[in-house]
Amino acid sequence: MRKTPGAVFIVFVYLVACCLALFEVAAFAAGEALTGLEEILARYEGALPRLWGEDIPGVLRTFEPEGKAVALTLDACGGAKGSAYDGAIIELLREHNLSATLFLNARWIEANPEIAADLASDPLFLIANHGWKHRPCSVTGRSAWGIEGTKNLSEAYREIENGARAVESLTGRRPRFYRSGTNFYDEVGLAVANDLGMKVVGWSVLGDAGATLTASEVSERVSGARPGQIILCHMNQPQSATAEGLKEAIPLLLEKGYKFVTLEEAFP
Ligand SMILES: [Zn+2]
Repeated sequence: MRKTPGAVFIVFVYLVACCLALFEVAAFAAGEALTGLEEILARYEGALPRLWGEDIPGVLRTFEPEGKAVALTLDACGGAKGSAYDGAIIELLREHNLSATLFLNARWIEANPEIAADLASDPLFLIANHGWKHRPCSVTGRSAWGIEGTKNLSEAYREIENGARAVESLTGRRPRFYRSGTNFYDEVGLAVANDLGMKVVGWSVLGDAGATLTASEVSERVSGARPGQIILCHMNQPQSATAEGLKEAIPLLLEKGYKFVTLEEAFP
């Protein structure tokens, strides 16, 4: 049967559509953002945020637990004073076979490639996004704890997206959870993180207050956790008392019947 020009055209359009679909799949597999910068700019250009803080709407601070469960999250902030590794905490978790979610900054991953790869290959640990340069998540340059926030939409996008890509090249999976440097957000930056496919996760137990507490203070805070709480500690300050405090607190939580879940399990 001879094809009419119309049929040839339909076949041509179909082939082009197939190619485009394949290209999209390839781009996604290569770690392209689900939403590009241009789309983000078009969506939020001119939006003026009104909120700024650690607990604005959309920051997840607790979860619905099945029984007695808590989620331990450990930040590794990177940078000149934040790129060390507190291996004692990881050893402790492995010893007790306990899960945790590790928020890794891109600079920390770059400074610790072998350790990062080892952690990523351990099924106990879920790797999450702690940003690219550890900046507070702002679209107007607001600061937190003396750290300058991202200045505009493009900077906020790059901070979140480049952090996500660093995690994806480590694990082979795009991260589902984001915590900004300092855990401060405005509502526009938070919406950008959500649009890029990440839930924003804060804390309900400030376990080591930026790795500044004594062992007994860490132990008191962490062992006092209640079901559904998200505990924040740091795994990048080995000189701190955080590991010592966790060493006291974890057996107490286990005696009370608590289990430790990753954020993937907390927010399936
Ligand atoms: Zn941090």
